[in-house]
Amino acid sequence: MNSFFEITKYDPKIDSEELLKEQVNNAYEANKLFFGQDVEIKINIIYKREEMNQVQGRKTDDWIVGTARNDQITIFSPEVFDKVSNHSRSDFNFVLTHEITHIFTDKMYGFKFPVWFKEGLAGYVAEQYKQSTINTENVQDFQMLHGYKDWQEHPNYRQAYSFINYIVKNAGKDKLFEFCSKLEEKESYEDFCQKFKENFGDDLDKYKQKWMQKLI
Ligand SMILES: [Zn+2]
Repeated sequence: MNSFFEITKYDPKIDSEELLKEQVNNAYEANKLFFGQDVEIKINIIYKREEMNQVQGRKTDDWIVGTARNDQITIFSPEVFDKVSNHSRSDFNFVLTHEITHIFTDKMYGFKFPVWFKEGLAGYVAEQYKQSTINTENVQDFQMLHGYKDWQEHPNYRQAYSFINYIVKNAGKDKLFEFCSKLEEKESYEDFCQKFKENFGDDLDKYKQKWMQKLI
């Protein structure tokens, strides 16, 4: 077991430390394998919706089960996962891996936008939406998924996942990492499109069209 992660808070009356550590270790290793390096992470296990609201500073929706900020993840215990949210208990490992990816990309690259790009990467590493498909009629304009507010209004995780999956398959992981390192913290939509074309050869719209042809 490595020492790059630490479970900072959990309730020993509800959770087994050994089991939690094993789950965190698996989720961490999936990220380490993908990114090829270590990052320090703290994990805070919570049990009540109010705790999530407090951490995020707002009333959170039923589907929100984890969050990542700085080097800290806050996530519901697997023991309460299906009680405090509309997720099934088996989603815990996927969500944990997903939140850990956010810390990896924050620390390695630091970009916050586009939100769809960040979420798609986390979904890809967690292999979260592998079984599900997206229909072309549910595909949205990437500009509508760019900022936090956009994403809150249209959290299109399936599109984000599927498009990142397509980029990795076509351009490869190294090219994707190279692109990540070019992004600014508050990347604008226009700059993102410009850099996308420079890095991947096609502009975003053309790339999107090619990806959509594969969806059918
Ligand atoms: Zn996320």
